Amino acid sequence: MSMSGKDRAVEVMAIRCPKCGREYDVTLFEFEKGVICECGERIGLKHKEFTDNLGKELKHYEQEVEEEKLSKIKRASEKIVSLILILIIPA
Ligand SMILES: [Zn+2]
Repeated sequence: MSMSGKDRAVEVMAIRCPKCGREYDVTLFEFEKGVICECGERIGLKHKEFTDNLGKELKHYEQEVEEEKLSKIKRASEKIVSLILILIIPA
């Protein structure tokens, strides 16, 4: 797991109050009930909204992992090519 993926997951877990901008950990939420912000604003979060967002983020994260894998494979193949070149070219 890359650090960027982890950071993004943390971002998903924070819910911002639309009135004052205070951030709340989503794990403190009771779905469909919401919480009362310190400014008095009720912050609600629909379960579907949350899972949709999480799904989107995970999809993006999966793509990132694929790109990471691809670049690893690319680096590995470049190494192999240079090894082959070393073997072919007599010292
Ligand atoms: Zn607030």
